[in-house]
Amino acid sequence: MKFIETRGNDGQHPEKVTFSEAILNPISSFGGLYSPESLPDLGDDFLASHLDSDYKTLARDMLTAFDIDIDARIIDQALDLYDQFDDPSNPVPVVKVKDDLYVSELYHGPTRAFKDMALQPFGIVLSSIAQKRGENYLILAATSGDTGPAALETFKNKANVKVACMYPDGGTSDVQRLQMVTENASNLKVIGVKGDFDDTQSALKRLLASTSFKTTLKEKNIHLSAANSVNFGRIIFQIIYHVHSYLELLRQQAISMGDKVYLNVPSGNFGNALGGYYAVKMGLPVEKILIASNRNNILTRFINTGEYDLRTSSVTPTTSPAMDILKSSNIERILFDMFGTERTRELMHSLDNDKYYQLNADELAQIQSMFAADYCEDAEGKAYIKDAFANDYLMDPHTATCFKAYDSCRDKPLKTIVYSTAEWTKFSPVIANALTGETDAHDIDALKSIANEAGIKIPKMISELFEKEITQKTVIEKDAIEQEILAFL
Ligand SMILES: *Cc1c(COP(=O)(O)O)cnc(C)c1O
Repeated sequence: MKFIETRGNDGQHPEKVTFSEAILNPISSFGGLYSPESLPDLGDDFLASHLDSDYKTLARDMLTAFDIDIDARIIDQALDLYDQFDDPSNPVPVVKVKDDLYVSELYHGPTRAFKDMALQPFGIVLSSIAQKRGENYLILAATSGDTGPAALETFKNKANVKVACMYPDGGTSDVQRLQMVTENASNLKVIGVKGDFDDTQSALKRLLASTSFKTTLKEKNIHLSAANSVNFGRIIFQIIYHVHSYLELLRQQAISMGDKVYLNVPSGNFGNALGGYYAVKMGLPVEKILIASNRNNILTRFINTGEYDLRTSSVTPTTSPAMDILKSSNIERILFDMFGTERTRELMHSLDNDKYYQLNADELAQIQSMFAADYCEDAEGKAYIKDAFANDYLMDPHTATCFKAYDSCRDKPLKTIVYSTAEWTKFSPVIANALTGETDAHDIDALKSIANEAGIKIPKMISELFEKEITQKTVIEKDAIEQEILAFL
């Protein structure tokens, strides 16, 4: 399978690239993204013939359908990482919570957030391509929370890859910070930046534009890459769990073969939702994909009105910070798939220059035939957390936004798969507050209180964090980042 460009070709980039090339250089002509030239059709028997398959077998067969230029041996090695999840025989449990609502838990990996689903195997794949080509890569990441720990975890001690990860000092939760600053592999550098996430991100952008930085990388023969959520190397692993979740509902006899379901996704950069969209295009029986947001509800407005408007909005911090995003990058791949290259270039050009675009009526109808959307305020989210807990289900504030969309967006009484993207341990102060009204400044107090309230244990990989030695002690002004990273290289 080859990959083509969402904004068309500028005559300088190759017209089509392989999967490896799309991973190594994710940005294409005119600032567009690589997308699959066509999607494989899973065919009528695929679901029936995978009813008894384990997750890895399903994943291997789906990846085979994509026909990518990665050796089968490497793919097997990448998929073996799912064996480190809580239950190797079922890394993604699907749990009935109430009525038609089933929760697909994507957080049972090493960093307790759904970023592991894609970043774990992606680390093996990227490192193997780098080794095969005899090239060295530097991955730069600016994180507000979940991507940093997952990227560090997957690339630690991997050959031919180094990671420099920046986080806003004081801007992450204790657990997220500890997950980063206790990593001690020599190919990882974690840098606390004095300032907020925007300062961190703009420092990263300045660094990417710095000539002295680029020259030094060249001299040292190091290529730059990114592990962000537009990288197709991550997206491909996010198609699989949607098919898996449908198969789980079949196994639990909640549905019969061919029955349609709703997929219900807490969305930020739209990687998770895009994976669901591709699964539908490949043949998964789905009524609609419900897009849940928090107060930063640009996706709700887009799907309900066809207007993507960055002019008047600024990001408001919420209790579901991984969704505090306005420019949702993977929407571009939906535009491309539905409306083609010319129109995508036009719309994205308008967004880049005027911070705005508006779909026409036909286009909006097409979007709405696939998606419905709503958003959930923090206070509503807390009420959903409390209510679910009363029904014996403990969930995080990102997952809670889906419960609102479940209540407001369905127009048919179909089974609904809500995707849970983080374990309770990652956002414990918000959850403790929802359950008991307490206001903990520190994660450890909230963790203990929830564990006590729910009669469960704090998972070992989280409780251990508070005992581990802090090995990554760098906290610097944003102007000092370039020097710090060059010293690390
Ligand atoms: C990244 C993340 C999201 C958003 O996922 P997208 O694929 O960017 O839409 C939602 N919840 C949590 C906990 C996350 O870490």
